[in-house]
Amino acid sequence: MLIVSEENCRKVVTRENAFSAVEGVFAAMAGGEAYNFPVIREAIGHADALYGFKSGFDRAGGVLGLKSGGYWPGNEKRGLTNHQSTVFLFDPDTGRPHAMVGGNHLTAMRTAAASAVSIRYLAREDAKVLGMIGAGFQSTFQMRAAAAQRRFEKVVGWNLHPQMLSRLAETAAELGLPFEAVSLDRLGAEADVIITITSSFEPILTRRQVKPGTHLACMGTDTKGKQEVDAALVAAATLFTDEVAQAVSIGECQHAVAEGLIGESRITPIGAVINGTQPGRTRDDEITLFDGTGVGLQDLAVAALAADLAGKRGMADEVSL
Ligand code: NAD
Repeated sequence: MLIVSEENCRKVVTRENAFSAVEGVFAAMAGGEAYNFPVIREAIGHADALYGFKSGFDRAGGVLGLKSGGYWPGNEKRGLTNHQSTVFLFDPDTGRPHAMVGGNHLTAMRTAAASAVSIRYLAREDAKVLGMIGAGFQSTFQMRAAAAQRRFEKVVGWNLHPQMLSRLAETAAELGLPFEAVSLDRLGAEADVIITITSSFEPILTRRQVKPGTHLACMGTDTKGKQEVDAALVAAATLFTDEVAQAVSIGECQHAVAEGLIGESRITPIGAVINGTQPGRTRDDEITLFDGTGVGLQDLAVAALAADLAGKRGMADEVSL
């Protein structure tokens, strides 16, 4: 069995190869070649932790496994990341363990790759202004991955905690893009692509603030009760997701469904757009919204990539069980 450390994951998984891995697995899901198993997530009654598993099987890629981990709010005080995860891969032919891969860096890479895939397939080609709502750990990965998809000329950002906005400014500078902290009204009026990546439980952005033609990648809502945009905005948009079952239960679409504004049939798996079996954006003035809920198969896809590359480059430890 191979063991791939967080450090070696950082070295072998790039924005480009993570993008291809996630694009490929979304396509396999929509083609019925890959499926996710039900998610387990539990408050364990210890250290205030939430712990669970995300798992699945990608027949097309020959990838079987699970990501296990969760959220330990006290970790920061110990100098550790609050979100902790590890991916275990198994040989689908024998069930033997194939690899154990650090999942923290990979989670950020695969989440950023998902919104980047949505931008590639759904945003207007002439998108110039990128809007960022959220300035936490994930936000820099999101901005870097998005910037590679269109010829953006500027980044505008908003965050509930303005002291965190320097993180967005620094990332934009690194990408050679001007950055401006703006109100939500200005962000909606200026941005052609908007990424939301917060842990909000109330709508931040509303229907009236978003201009026609915008593409939104709503990435923060991955749990029941979380919400980043109002249900009216979801209802007004052409909707896409990684997995419809998750979008309506734990994703951004959950609220519009609960309010009876939309049904499941309004939501297209992004993989169907990648495969060319469903249209993506059909009009320049259409608002498109990708509800990125985060599926286990994304984790497995990037972990399999890390195991493969680290194994080939002598960057994995090998143990026999
Ligand atoms: P973080 O804790 O580093 O940052 C949280 C962000 O949310 C900050 O910008 C903070 O200012 C903002 N925020 C906190 N409370 C808020 C509130 N009540 N209202 C509005 N904004 C608030 O978190 P992170 O690691 O950057 O993750 C951000 C979100 O993305 C989380 O909700 C996380 O669960 C989610 N996430 C989703 C996926 C996916 O696949 N969809 C993957 C990883 C993380």
